[in-house]
Amino acid sequence: MDFSLSDEEKAVRDTARTFIHKEVEPLEQEVLRREREHRTGLDRSELRELQLKAKQFGFWGLSTPQEHGGMDLPAVLQSLVWTEVGRSFVPFRFGGEADNILYFANDEQRREYLVPTIEGERISCFAITEPGAGSDAANIRFTARRDGDDWVLNGEKTFITNGNDADFTIVIAVTDRDKDVRKGGATAFLVDRAMGWRSGFIQTMGEGGPASLVFDDVRVPGRNVLGEIGQGFDLAMRWIGKGRYIIPSHALGIAERALRMAIEHANTRHTFGRPIGQNQAIQWMIADSEVELEAARWLVLRAAWTVDQGIDPRHTSSMAKLYGANMVNNVVDRVMQIHGGMGYTRELPIERWYRSVRLLRIFEGTDEMQRMIIARDLLRGYTQIGGHLA
Ligand SMILES: Cc1cc2nc3c(=O)[nH]c(=O)nc-3n(C[C@H](O)[C@H](O)[C@H](O)COP(=O)(O)OP(=O)(O)OC[C@H]3O[C@@H](n4cnc5c(N)ncnc54)[C@H](O)[C@@H]3O)c2cc1C
Repeated sequence: MDFSLSDEEKAVRDTARTFIHKEVEPLEQEVLRREREHRTGLDRSELRELQLKAKQFGFWGLSTPQEHGGMDLPAVLQSLVWTEVGRSFVPFRFGGEADNILYFANDEQRREYLVPTIEGERISCFAITEPGAGSDAANIRFTARRDGDDWVLNGEKTFITNGNDADFTIVIAVTDRDKDVRKGGATAFLVDRAMGWRSGFIQTMGEGGPASLVFDDVRVPGRNVLGEIGQGFDLAMRWIGKGRYIIPSHALGIAERALRMAIEHANTRHTFGRPIGQNQAIQWMIADSEVELEAARWLVLRAAWTVDQGIDPRHTSSMAKLYGANMVNNVVDRVMQIHGGMGYTRELPIERWYRSVRLLRIFEGTDEMQRMIIARDLLRGYTQIGGHLA
């Protein structure tokens, strides 16, 4: 069994690492300073500038097909790169990306929505969650009613990432009340803000914030159906599925960086005449963090590898998302403890991570939903214990 990375994987990872180290990490103190003043850490034009700089390094559209100018990286490589991004808390991501389900767009929609999103000229958001339907996504009530060649959309979506900045949304609506939402009752629509939906900022414990989207008789032309009528739930699950290995990949980078800070602090902070790292209580926190981090790494890489093998990745991705999200919460909590009072201040990024990583256990499928999927797969015999090595 070979656990090593290929030369190509190492080269891409190291280039990403160099970029993050040289171009992104130097912005960290300014980001913290701005956020302490309740300003956004990195504005849209600064993010764009960084993304264009990254493009010169060759990083543009990690998952974007080459015909659209992207890198079209295998999932394992995307995972490795996202881990590098996670090493800095600057809210940076590589440019040239679009929601995976925008590739279900027809030619006209590709020109109007997909290409400008890849180019960074338009911002999208994806909306399925409603005040009455989150984990139970099949319970959505947001409706789209046919009216001639148009559809008329009504309802509210909530907790939508980028909802305040987006120029358009990919919104999932009930189009046939007689059908189960999971079996043809829902459809995805591409809806410009200019068509009439409104957004409202939702304050959260994290930096930035999602939005609620309100649709009040918003008229959408029939040509704005994404994919097929009735395909909405399937597209939504595809959108969510992607994040299930990317989120824990990012978490690995956060945990690595935080743990490194804790080790340095444990070696340099003295109490009772010796470094705190000489106490077993501190050593155990470091050891447990390293073990969990390493376990998460292999779950994440296996999930990504499963995607690359063309094997149904749902089971492995759920395990990676569940374990990775919990791992980073545990590690950041211990890292704060090791830093004592300083860990609790806004001078260091630890309290920022502490707030931000909590979200990872909630969005794109809560811990409980991941457990439900994992248990269901085993109870119904969809997968066997031990996966491909069983
Ligand atoms: C910052 C942020 C960004 C987000 N971005 C987006 C986005 O871009 N687009 C989008 O559509 N949504 C987005 N979401 C929504 C997110 O996906 C949901 O919040 C999440 O799926 C949970 O749904 P809920 O909040 O309605 O909780 P609920 O579904 O009401 O669940 C409440 C609690 O009950 C548990 N629970 C529910 N059912 C069961 C069960 N059967 N068994 C055991 N436990 C159960 C849950 O795990 C949870 O702990 C975002 C949320 C946040 C906070």
